[in-house]
Amino acid sequence: MVGCKGIIYKLTEMVDHDIEQEIYEEILEHIEHCDKCFALYNTFVKTISLCHNMEKIKLPKKKKKDFHRWIHIEVSRVVVKKYRW
Ligand SMILES: [Zn+2]
Repeated sequence: MVGCKGIIYKLTEMVDHDIEQEIYEEILEHIEHCDKCFALYNTFVKTISLCHNMEKIKLPKKKKKDFHRWIHIEVSRVVVKKYRW
C-alpha cells in the first residue's frame, strides 16, 4: 500500500509515465480517498506541465535531460514544503 509520504515520489514518475501499471492504480486509489494527496496531485500536475512547456525552449539534448530532472526535483521539493509533511 502506498502511504501519503510515498505518493509525492511516485508522482514524479507517474507524470513521466515511467511507472508500473500496478503502482499507478494504487496511487489513483489513494488519491480518490485522500483529500490531501488529491490536492497535492493537482498542484503537482499543474506545476509540472507548466514546466514541461518551458522545456520546448531550444536546448542541447544533454542539457534538456538535466533540466527535466531538475524540474522534477524542484517541483517535488516545493510541493512537499507546501503540504508540510
Ligand atoms: Zn494521502
